Amino acid sequence: MARYDYACEQCGVFEVIRPIDAPIHEPTCATCGGAARRVYAPPAVTSPRSALRRARDAAEASAHEPTVLPRMPTPPRHDHPPNPLHARLPRP
Ligand SMILES: [Zn+2]
Repeated sequence: MARYDYACEQCGVFEVIRPIDAPIHEPTCATCGGAARRVYAPPAVTSPRSALRRARDAAEASAHEPTVLPRMPTPPRHDHPPNPLHARLPRP
């Protein structure tokens, strides 16, 4: 299923959810029954570049002003027991 935005000139934007392979037809407004036109919006995609930039900025900031913690951080909790097969892996 895909979500499509349509706009009625009198009632505003509304959305239509239909299968992605359904034939395209212009729906009518559910409120007034008038004609509606498709509204296109940019996809909600985050840029990996911005995540990279945030990580680089955080690394740069911590290099000049390291974060001082009031106490030792607690180690992460493991919810599952370690895999016994890992003991048979070759060691350096
Ligand atoms: Zn309408």
